[in-house]
This record gives sequence, C-alpha cells and structure tokens, in this order.
Amino acid sequence: MSTSLLYHGFGVRGYRYVRTAYVAGEVRFLIEQPRESLRCPLCDSAKVVRRGEEWRTFRTLTIGSKRVTITLPVARVECTICQVVRQVSVAFADPRRTYTKSFARYALELLRHMTIRDVADHLGVGWDLIKEIQKADLQRRFKKVPLKKLRQLAIDEISIGKHGRYLTVVLDLKRGAVVFVGDGKGSQALEPFWKRLRCSRAKIKAVAMDMSAAYIKAVTEQLPKAQIVFDHFHIVKLFNEKLSNLRRELYHDATDKQKTVLKGSRWLLLMNPENLDRQRNEPKRLEEALKLNAPLATAYYLKEDLRELWQQPDWRTARKYLTSWCARATASGIRILQQFASTLKRHAAGILNYFKFRISTGPLEGTNNKIRTLQRQAYGFRDQEFFKLKIYALHETRYELVG
Ligand SMILES: [Zn+2]
Repeated sequence: MSTSLLYHGFGVRGYRYVRTAYVAGEVRFLIEQPRESLRCPLCDSAKVVRRGEEWRTFRTLTIGSKRVTITLPVARVECTICQVVRQVSVAFADPRRTYTKSFARYALELLRHMTIRDVADHLGVGWDLIKEIQKADLQRRFKKVPLKKLRQLAIDEISIGKHGRYLTVVLDLKRGAVVFVGDGKGSQALEPFWKRLRCSRAKIKAVAMDMSAAYIKAVTEQLPKAQIVFDHFHIVKLFNEKLSNLRRELYHDATDKQKTVLKGSRWLLLMNPENLDRQRNEPKRLEEALKLNAPLATAYYLKEDLRELWQQPDWRTARKYLTSWCARATASGIRILQQFASTLKRHAAGILNYFKFRISTGPLEGTNNKIRTLQRQAYGFRDQEFFKLKIYALHETRYELVG
C-alpha cells in the first residue's frame, strides 16, 4: 500500500498513508493529514492552531470480498481569524458521513441494477446505510425540481394504501417526469406547487385534468393564461358511472324474469364492445339486456358514441359531433343522460381543447401504478420524504423500483 494507491484506488488524496492492519477479515488503513494542509473549515485560512483530534473510521471500497476501512485522526483546529475551534473537513467524505465518497458512488452504481437490500448484503453494511446513500443522491438531484421550462401539465389524484390516503401528482407531459407530489387531494394539496410555479415564471400553455370543480377553480385562478384540457378517460368513466346507476334503477323496478337477464350485465355494459368474449356468449347476453329495456339501450349506444368523440379528425368536426351528441342525450328524455349532456355542454371548451393540444392525464396512469408499487414497499410510510423523492425519480430507469 502506498499514498498513491490510496489516491488512485480509493479516491483519497492529500493524506499520508501510515500503515495497514488486518483484523477479523477486514483491511484497515490508517492515514494522517499533513500538518501544513490543515485549514479552517469556515474560512479556509491556513492560520490555524491544532487543538486535538477525533479518530474517525470510514467505510470504503472493498478489495475483492474484503471489507476495507480508512481510519483518520481528524484534527480540531482553532482559527486565528474566525476565533473558533472546529473539526477540519474531510476531503474524501461528506460531512457527518461514515463512508467515503467513492464508497457512495460505487453503491449508487450498484443501485442501478440491484435493490437496496441486495447492495447492502453485497457490501456487508446495513439496509439503512444504503438507503441513506440513495436518499442523499435523490435529495441532491430532486430537492429543487426545475419548473421554468414547463409548458404542458397533467394533474390527478391517486388513492394509495388502505386508509383512504391521497396524493396529488403533477406530471410534466413533455418529459414524463413528476414535478410535484402533494399530500391529500383537492385544491389545498396543490397550493405549494402554485407558489413554486410562480417563482419559476414558467409559461404554462395547457393542463390536462378531470372535470372536478376544485381543479377548475385552482387552474383558472392560478394559471389564467393556460388552457384546460379535460381528460377523455375521466369523462367516459364518469358516463360509465351514470350508466351503472341507470342499470341499478332499472333493476330495482324490473320483474323477476327481467332481473335474471339484467343480473351480471353491468360489466357487459361498461366493457368496450370490441372486448366482449364470444366464447362466453357475452355479445348475446348484452343484446338481451339491451332489448329488455329501451332506456338502457339508449344510454349504452350513447356511451359508444361518446367514445367516438375523441376519434374525430379536428376541433371543428368534434364540436359538431359533441353538439349533436348532447342534443340526442337531451332528447332521450332519460334524466341522468340529460344531466350528463348539460355537464358536457358546460365543459365543452375544455373537452374540445383536446383537439388543440392532444394531451390527457393518460401518461399519469402509468406513473400512478408505479407509485402504488413503491408504496407497497415497507419504507413507503416509514420515511415520507424518501418515498416522495423516489416518485420524482420514477421517470428515470436509474434505480430499481423495488428497494
Ligand atoms: Zn476561519
């Protein structure tokens, strides 16, 4: 071992090699800092007087499968300028850490291919230490998410866990990256985001979201220049809920014979017709349920037509299509369809904005599934900050999702 091997092999530079000890299968390097290189950690002045030392040991890269540590008496110095006594900085380790920078870099490299547990086992350290290394790296990169270049956003809330807990997530549609995670749902969850967005002076052009009044109010107030695009999956989902309600009402008033047909038809009604299973006689069963009841059939075919709205070639055609759909729903005489038509009319501008921006909250779906996977890992609730940092890093394939 030599001073130069310490530098080239372990990234330790500016220290003198003293000796090596082999204890219990572990390699221990003792090093020292030359007197002339002592500096005040506050002002970097060399006019310092040595006032004792603290012996510190740092984990560093392994040699083969052998654990390696570096021990250094870290000097305490009194600065003649600042007039305080402090421990000098250690060049090869971050403040208060018990491992070297090269050890952290190596662990981060392994984390790209392995879970936290795997890396901890491989390096012979605790799970917490590797998690700390990853967390510090995530903090460095995601503590401040740059928002200046944001143009198109998607906002949605997701429920996670079994305790009715919600997160509100904002996605940069251009990069596919999460730029904000808020606790809870509704407009309150977004407040810290608006604050940061204002500071960044980003020029937001369009926001994809569902038709919830809270989001509409928040975006209209906070981003008066942005266009709202109502997400088409949310709209169809909302219509499906109405369709289910209608079926339930009809079921309630049906005769026993009718009930037999209606029973189990809920999924058939909600399913996209192209996905019906012929082998299980699903198209036929759907047809029977529809034949039984005219309002149900009307609602069902209106649903299929509604989905077609987003297949229209351009804004102008889509506007005509939407107007005619609403007219038919209103003319149906079925109360919940009439209500739905008036909802769509009220939100028409935002619905048709799809044809100007072609965005949706769809890309958030995938992200939300990944967040739920993350949350199922035990650390989801134990360390909230780490959990959120991992969400900000989801668009990267930098780390294994499972920790
Ligand atoms: Zn000083």
